[in-house]
Amino acid sequence: MRILIVEDEHRIANAIKKGLEQENYATDVAYAGPDGFDLASTEDYDLIILDLLLPEMDGITICKELRKNKIHTPILMLTAKGQIQDKVAGLDAGADDYLTKPFSFEELLARVRALNRRPKIVLDDTLVVNDLQLNTKTYQIERAKKAIQLSSKEFSLLEYLMRNANKILTKDQIIAHVWNYDADILPNTVEVYIRNLRNKVDVPFKNKKPLIHTVRGFGYKIGS
Ligand code: CA
Repeated sequence: MRILIVEDEHRIANAIKKGLEQENYATDVAYAGPDGFDLASTEDYDLIILDLLLPEMDGITICKELRKNKIHTPILMLTAKGQIQDKVAGLDAGADDYLTKPFSFEELLARVRALNRRPKIVLDDTLVVNDLQLNTKTYQIERAKKAIQLSSKEFSLLEYLMRNANKILTKDQIIAHVWNYDADILPNTVEVYIRNLRNKVDVPFKNKKPLIHTVRGFGYKIGS
């Protein structure tokens, strides 16, 4: 496990580095945006911890550029303010999760572990969960070799669930990732879309175990 830390505040960067190394992660630190971007582009990391506010090149720009260059390393964004706009901007730019400063090291570790449990994108942009496959480029979905047709919103929802396979996602997280906050979305909408997805992904495959699960009081997850 190799982690890149991009953070201009030396005190925070060094504390994260020290803590992660005690947990046996290998780490590199970049204290400026362009250095972080160069390292992330040329070295092979399992995770990038990326500060939002950085001199010269900010976290959002780095994130966008990496994703544009097809670098899909999971990114945990650090935001100074707990503002929804910052979080949404980070997630829209391609970050996988965010953490608001100040944070406890325990929480950072928990996020790092969660991001590392996620399935890696395998072969030409295809996400795989059990016998379900979703191609993020061609938009083809199949389960047990049978094609599944989804609307674009259903596709976004399934893609988000699959990128976070085996992780419980709250309705708020789902809304933030799949819909825009400014859209007038009720939590009930998520339920409706989950039901639609089930009818296409689970219901027709009666001999298979259902993949989409409701976790009462928390949210939803996809996986075995
Ligand atoms: Ca900073």
